[in-house]
Amino acid sequence: MIKNIPVKNQEVSVMEKILSGVKIECLRGDIASQEDIEAIVNAANAQLRIGGGVAGAIHRAAGPGLEEECLPLAPIKPGEAVITGAHNLPNRYVIHCLGPVYGFDKPEDKLLADCYRNALKLAEENRIESVAFPSISSGAFGYPVKEAAKVALGTITETIPGLSHVSKIRFVLFSEEDLKVHEDILSNV
Ligand code: ADP
Repeated sequence: MIKNIPVKNQEVSVMEKILSGVKIECLRGDIASQEDIEAIVNAANAQLRIGGGVAGAIHRAAGPGLEEECLPLAPIKPGEAVITGAHNLPNRYVIHCLGPVYGFDKPEDKLLADCYRNALKLAEENRIESVAFPSISSGAFGYPVKEAAKVALGTITETIPGLSHVSKIRFVLFSEEDLKVHEDILSNV
């Protein structure tokens, strides 16, 4: 089902599907501007520092306090996730995941699935109700977006029957093409 919701006072088109009582959404936008979401997920680097892409957008919006809080938690390994506060972001938490570098960290599909599983595990442990993910690994880390989306949505579909706190999972895609890929896969799960 496609409907319009207000995000930052603008109407945004969002595809949604309810699976095992959990609402899964896909929309086009900026992960750092999801004000109605409790925890956003960072496609982090191992050192949990400000970088490019998602990590750059999140750290810029959060301010330097986020990097300070991250430093003692680094480094993390591919597939791992850690949680921090959200500082100046409009959310309560940031969950930082290190995705696999495609063609280098293997097996990349298992490591990418671990990111989604571990992020949702942290969300549950912290009684978080809503989580927004970017497309982890599909930027600088080179994971083809369609393959990454299959792993992401497949892992989430497998994980949601065991969730008791998380009731909304949003995918925030940066481009229209990436949104379309995720919508196609979501409509078939
Ligand atoms: P990785 O290093 O894990 O590949 P990137 O941050 O380079 O992570 O990119 C992951 C995906 O997020 C890419 O598809 C990229 O286009 C997208 N992206 C980049 N900036 C943002 C943003 N501000 N909000 C949402 N998605 C973004």
